[in-house]
Formats: sequence, structure tokens, C-alpha cells
Amino acid sequence: MTDVYFDRIALIGIGLIGSSIARAVKAKGLAGTVAISSRSRETLARARKLDLGTEYIHEAGKAVEGADLVIISVPVGASGKVAEEIAPYLKPGAIVTDVGSTKGSVVAQMLPHMPKGVHFIPGHPIAGTEHSGPDAGFAELFQGRWCILTPIQGTDKDAKHRLAAFWRALGSRVDEMDAEHHDKVLAIVSHLPHIIAYNIVGTADDLETVTESEVIKYSASGFRDFTRLAASDPTMWRDVCLHNKDAILEMLARFSEDLAYLQRAIRWGDGEKLFNLFTRTRAIRRSIIDAGQDTSAPNFGRPLDAGQED
Ligand code: NAP
Repeated sequence: MTDVYFDRIALIGIGLIGSSIARAVKAKGLAGTVAISSRSRETLARARKLDLGTEYIHEAGKAVEGADLVIISVPVGASGKVAEEIAPYLKPGAIVTDVGSTKGSVVAQMLPHMPKGVHFIPGHPIAGTEHSGPDAGFAELFQGRWCILTPIQGTDKDAKHRLAAFWRALGSRVDEMDAEHHDKVLAIVSHLPHIIAYNIVGTADDLETVTESEVIKYSASGFRDFTRLAASDPTMWRDVCLHNKDAILEMLARFSEDLAYLQRAIRWGDGEKLFNLFTRTRAIRRSIIDAGQDTSAPNFGRPLDAGQED
């Protein structure tokens, strides 16, 4: 318990991720005081109404005063500005972490502001939904999901151990890798799928020969599975694209090549190529289920009246 218990936690940003952490901390009794800060007074008032913490402080600097653990949960493009704002108020020995979906850029933005004696350990919980704001969070969000820590060289072992223990107490499994590798892995498993989803939903919306009502009416044939990703927060995803540019462009180039290969196979009626690819990809779905990262129920476990795929 001593490893995971903090006297004072400060949560800077209280949207989907920040409020899920707040709920889990409260449910599991992992802190004495939970000070919450958000950019807007409206969101902060909502957090108070939802009873997510014990103190509600508009100024991020004031909220981190005396905190043993500071967790920054804002769009990645805002992390440098927040780090600069809180830096003068951080307690020596405090652990500062974040939850941003890109890591190289967050380190570049935040590290220069971190005072000596503060343990800055970037992190990224691989858990989320397409919803945002303090109402969207839930205590079980991190249950069984991975949290990746990307410690910088020379990180204090004890601080890292405490942060990892904290994430485990929230229900996560914890992995460690460097920021550059994280950004490559996430470009393929998360960033590219979201970009493809935004693109395909945009294309369907633009089609002149198919009406919008037909797109909606027949969406259970596959289209709707992309719309969940494409309904994700526009600010968050704008920032992810701008802050993991190199890795995303590399993955997009590979994706375009593979798509051209598929296009050629369809054009030339190469059924064998298509069948082989579709067989290989089906096995990946089975591996995800075996790894406990999704349900084996057909159609993601949706009730039958939610429609079947074609
Ligand atoms: P969210 O629900 O939209 O909440 C964002 C929070 O950040 C709010 O408290 C908001 O404050 C604040 N904020 C927004 N813009 C800001 C700015 N320019 N400066 C300072 N504060 C600002 O977002 P979220 O989904 O929790 O995402 C937070 C972080 O977690 C992002 O870095 C994201 O990459 C990462 N992440 C997200 C997911 C996911 O699935 N959503 C999963 C893993 C990691 P106000 O409301 O007061 O303006």
C-alpha cells in the first residue's frame, strides 16, 4: 500500500482520462487529497459537481503545490505550456507524469521546464473511448489495459517503481519503452486506424451518388465500426497528428503501398492474393482476443437487434 498511496495527488486536466483516474483513485483509496485543476471554470465546476476530488483549484500552479504525484491529462499540444505553468510550484521529490498519446513531443515540450529534484516520468494508458469531458470517465477504464511508461535516461528507480505500482493499482498492466519506439508502435496500432477512420467516414460523407440517409441506414454492414473511431475528440486527434508527424507519415506511406497491392489484386482478379491476406489478418483478431484485449462475442458483443454485418 505504501508504494501506491500518495498524500496529495494533483490532476491537471479532468476530461475522459483525468476523471477516470480520479474515479479509480477514489474507489481504491489511493490518495489523501486529490486536487483537481482544469483550464475552464465550467469543466472544473462539473468535476466538483461529480465529486471527483477533494479540492478544485483553477490555477494549475496552485493545484500542484505540495503534491507528491502530478498527472497531466491535457491534449499533447498543451503539455509544454502546462509544464511551464506548474514548474515553479512543484515540490522537490514530486513525481510528474502525463497520459499523452504521443511521447517524443511531450518529452521535448515538458522536460526543459522540469526543475532539478522532480521526477518526470512520461506515461500513456492504452485505454480510452470516443467520448470526452469529465462525465465520460469511469473507474474501470484502465482495468486489464496496458499503461506504457517512457522514462528518460537516469530516471530514479524508486519513483518509477512507485508510478508503475500506482498504475497497477488502477488495474493496468505496465510496460516500459523509449519514447521514440512508443511513437512508432502507437502510430500503427492507434494513430493510423484513427486517420483511416476519419478518412473513410469523410469519403462516405462526400459521395454524391450515395445519399447520406443510405450511408446511415446500411451502416451495420461495416461502416459504423469506423464511425466510432471517427467520432473521437477533434482537438486530441489534431494534436496527435501534429505531434507524431514522422512516425505517422512513415506508417501512412507503408499503408498506401499495401493498399496499392490490394488494389492491383482486385483489378487483376487475383483471388489467391486476396484470400491469403484476409486469412492472415483474421488470425490477428484471434490473437487480440486471446490476449484479453477484446471480447470473442460476435459483432463485438452487440445485442442482436443492433444489426448484423453483411
Ligand atoms: P478530454 O476529455 O477532452 O479532456 C481534456 C482536458 O484537458 C480538459 O480538462 C480540458 O480542459 C483540458 N484542456 C484542453 N485543452 C487545453 C489546453 N489548451 N490547455 C490546458 N488544458 C486544456 O481529453 P482526454 O480524452 O482526457 O485526453 C487527455 C489526454 O489523454 C490527451 O493527451 C490524449 O492524447 C490522452 N489520451 C486519450 C485517450 C482517449 O481515448 N481519449 C486515451 C489515452 C490517452 P477544459 O475542459 O477545462 O477546457
